[in-house]
Amino acid sequence: MRRAVFPGSFDPLTLGHYDIIKRGVTLFDELVIAIGINADKKYMFSLEERTKFIEEAFKDEPKIKVMTYEGMTVDFCKKIGATFILRGLRNPADFEFEKAIAHTNRKLSEIETVFLLTSSGKSYISSSIVRDVIRNGGDYTGLVPDTVVANF
Ligand code: ADP
Repeated sequence: MRRAVFPGSFDPLTLGHYDIIKRGVTLFDELVIAIGINADKKYMFSLEERTKFIEEAFKDEPKIKVMTYEGMTVDFCKKIGATFILRGLRNPADFEFEKAIAHTNRKLSEIETVFLLTSSGKSYISSSIVRDVIRNGGDYTGLVPDTVVANF
């Protein structure tokens, strides 16, 4: 059973995340989308809203599960028996940041991180840009899955 974890804040789920999840799920038997809870972080959407956005987007995908976790991602992986972490790469800044985390996770565990490159046309999309557009009353609907718009 090849179980992978796709960790993130998903505040909110974007078309960038959606693309990585759709492509990533083909590589594993089960993909757990894991919403990290960080008490020090201020979120625009509640944990319930973020969970709902993802559950609705993938309700027809039996291999995809949605869970929440606190603490280190590798500890969560061990707890649920996941041996892979899935991450997306948009640009060189992502690469440098993700490289340090992946090396650290390797030092702490046997868990492998698998990277998928963003699809062309999606590399500029981030949750923080979507939040900025929403805060300023702009049209965010082309940046997120339809299910996010429907449950907004
Ligand atoms: P975090 O708070 O861990 O950065 P995010 O929810 O912002 O969580 O992102 C989770 C994962 O989704 C990360 O691996 C990030 O690189 C990836 N990701 C986000 N947006 C995109 C995108 N447009 N294309 C590819 N990967 C993306």
